[in-house]
Amino acid sequence: MSVPPLQLPTIQNWSCHNCSGCCRQHLIEITDEERQRILGQQWTTNDGVSDGPVVVPHRSSMWKKTWRLAHASDGSCIFLDGQGLCRIHAKFGEAAKPLACRIYPYAFHPSGKKVTVSLRFSCPSVVANLGKAVSENRDELKEIEQLVVPENAAAIPPPRINRREQLDWPDTLKIVHALEEVITDEDGGSVVERLFRALFVAGLVDQAQFALIRGARLGDLLEILSEAAAAEEIPDTEQPAGVIRMQFRLLVAHYARKDTVADLDAGFAGRWRLLRAATRFASGRGVATPLQDCFQEVPFESMEQSFGEFPAEFEKILTRYLRVKLQGLHFCGPAYYGIPLVEGFQSLALIVPAMCWIARWLAASDGRTIWTTEDLSKAMTIADHHHGYSPVFGSGGFRRRVNMLAKTEDLTRLLLWYAS
Ligand code: SF4
Repeated sequence: MSVPPLQLPTIQNWSCHNCSGCCRQHLIEITDEERQRILGQQWTTNDGVSDGPVVVPHRSSMWKKTWRLAHASDGSCIFLDGQGLCRIHAKFGEAAKPLACRIYPYAFHPSGKKVTVSLRFSCPSVVANLGKAVSENRDELKEIEQLVVPENAAAIPPPRINRREQLDWPDTLKIVHALEEVITDEDGGSVVERLFRALFVAGLVDQAQFALIRGARLGDLLEILSEAAAAEEIPDTEQPAGVIRMQFRLLVAHYARKDTVADLDAGFAGRWRLLRAATRFASGRGVATPLQDCFQEVPFESMEQSFGEFPAEFEKILTRYLRVKLQGLHFCGPAYYGIPLVEGFQSLALIVPAMCWIARWLAASDGRTIWTTEDLSKAMTIADHHHGYSPVFGSGGFRRRVNMLAKTEDLTRLLLWYAS
């Protein structure tokens, strides 16, 4: 099978450091073929695997049954050993693992004549930029591409720009590239200021009528918009209105929760805990209910205080995060619930204040009033775990909220308030 060439991120390193976080957090759905293969491996307690089925039903309907790997009571995969290593990998080799395990933390997205590769920042090694340059993993990535990318990848159309407009691949990528240039502009101020300017460009792109603006003309227009964005004054930081903060806290609660198999199996008690937490997040009174072990009960009002500037190291991490997501088209189209480019970029921008709120919570849980690169990096792994993967972010309600926040400029208010 012939698949398009890969476009790899130029600024990202990654190698697995066996932290086993992914094997503890993710539910691994498997195909019927993978199920047969794993059952054929004949796992027993002599291999260290706990007693009971290694594969269990996931979703069942009258028409279809799907499967997932079984998990231990703490939510970790049944094949994870005491050293944090995969038993399937150790006994049968890398290729014997389910495909989902082989792909993580990569994500492959069609981009016209190429397939572009992004990474999930839920992996701490991705956030810390540890390991080999991604380009050095090309052979391994090519092998995985053959397994995941459909044959018709080059025929997949680009994401729409907004509800009205669709351009061809070269013009769509010009807009993505223009946003990335604003994010990397060394004269654009801090990363938050550059993101503010990129949102400004995205907002103007959203209003443009593209009937006569294609090809070279689009390039000229984007240059003018980027210059206008560079000249735009950064507004004073202003606390968003109470109702906006309420909506934002509910969004943060979705980003901050943990959905391991143990959580999903918690049944009525688990759902009741989540409902109580959501009620608290909606009211914003009292203390935030810890949604994961890393959080403590902290008064909501503490998260309204400034926790300082971003450390210089995190400025670089956040810039790289935004660039990898843009270069890898990991924010719109098939990678993000089929959402158009401008709206997807606004959702990507909204994750930044959400990360900052979570980082404040982590720092406050530790009794600190200043955040560190570690707080912010951990908040990035927590929030990015869900971004583009939890169905709630693609729901109509969530999309309407993002659109409304962007139109009323509350998106930039939230960004400037929580990220500074
Ligand atoms: S099968 Fe192996 S790699 Fe996949 S989640 Fe389980 S332990 Fe991790």
